[in-house]
Amino acid sequence: MHKIFLNTNCIFNDTIEILGDEFKHIKALRLRANDEIIVCDGQMNDYFCLVKNIYKDKAMLSIKKISKSNTELTKNIFLFQALTKADKFEFVIQKSVELGVNKIIPIICDYCDVKNNPGENKLTRWHKISKSAAEQSGRGIIPKILEPMDFKSAVSFSNNIDLNFIAHEKSNCSIKNYSFNSDSIGIFVGPEGGFSESEIEFAASSNIKAVSLGKRILRTETAALFILSSIVFETQL
Ligand code: SAM
Repeated sequence: MHKIFLNTNCIFNDTIEILGDEFKHIKALRLRANDEIIVCDGQMNDYFCLVKNIYKDKAMLSIKKISKSNTELTKNIFLFQALTKADKFEFVIQKSVELGVNKIIPIICDYCDVKNNPGENKLTRWHKISKSAAEQSGRGIIPKILEPMDFKSAVSFSNNIDLNFIAHEKSNCSIKNYSFNSDSIGIFVGPEGGFSESEIEFAASSNIKAVSLGKRILRTETAALFILSSIVFETQL
């Protein structure tokens, strides 16, 4: 069944009215009267609906049941992903949203090729990618992509997270040595050039655990998805 995210201001008692861009989306899905669809408010509430009418410029749905979304992970996972070329970064957003990430924080590291703040348009595009991946994978929230931060600011942001890892290919400690019992988990993944030694030292001084993901050097996007999948495998499957 298709799932879409909508603002709560189009939900009236047992009816949902869909206009504008969201209506274009409904048309693209080729929905017809009596088709089923889930509308989510992005705050874990799923409205199970039937399409009542499709007009020229709007669609009307009738709400059959409301329930709490049950697709979120039991952990809040924060991905601190080094900025990288646009297509790779967008790939990481899409796939990590499918895997259940809670927030993505783009980080600007010493060895990032891309250091410019990507600007408002890029943030809007990233949000759209997150929304569409969240719809496709049936999430109960749309994971937020924050404004890029420099490495040190990201480390201080991570102080509020229960358990933090930094993926470092030179670490002697495998990710396998950890259990993921904490409610919130932060993951730092470096750029193609890796983290600098001073970044690794700074992370260690903030109690961020350096972990190896195995003997092979993974591309940055593979590393992010590997570590996320490992946490999902351990905690939720
Ligand atoms: N420049 C590094 C080199 O050539 O040795 C490789 C950097 S790697 C392409 C990009 C990022 O992925 C790293 O900064 C790290 O966060 C993560 N990564 C890749 N392979 C890893 C591994 N085997 N263990 C831990 N982290 C890894």
